[in-house]
Amino acid sequence: MTKVIHPFLRLDTMKTPAGKECAYFYGDYYRGRNVEECRLLKAQGQAWSRDLCATCPVPSILQANSCPHLKLRTKIARPLAAVFQRRVQVSAYCEKAEQTVAEPQIGCGQCHALPFKFVIKE
Ligand code: SF4
Repeated sequence: MTKVIHPFLRLDTMKTPAGKECAYFYGDYYRGRNVEECRLLKAQGQAWSRDLCATCPVPSILQANSCPHLKLRTKIARPLAAVFQRRVQVSAYCEKAEQTVAEPQIGCGQCHALPFKFVIKE
């Protein structure tokens, strides 16, 4: 079994039932098996089902931000905006800055200060 040190250190990232690559999705279809799970939700004691992957923000966060200090916390909710359908809601925390990250796709800004300074040489 693959040990997950960090999602981007895994070599066997799989596609979710929604067709997006997600480092937390695990599927075992070898020799007739049909085991699927979300290891992020499972580690946080949340009940996963295949439909959650279609609207889950985690794949796009992982694609935009590869910071190893970023830790994602998930919660399954039924927001009014989704007509009370189950949705994965994500909050992020930076273990280096020890603060909540408002925009997980961007990060906390400590490692990579924003805004970037562009120098135009003459
Ligand atoms: S629910 Fe989200 S984090 Fe879990 S496998 Fe699906 S896309 Fe990945």
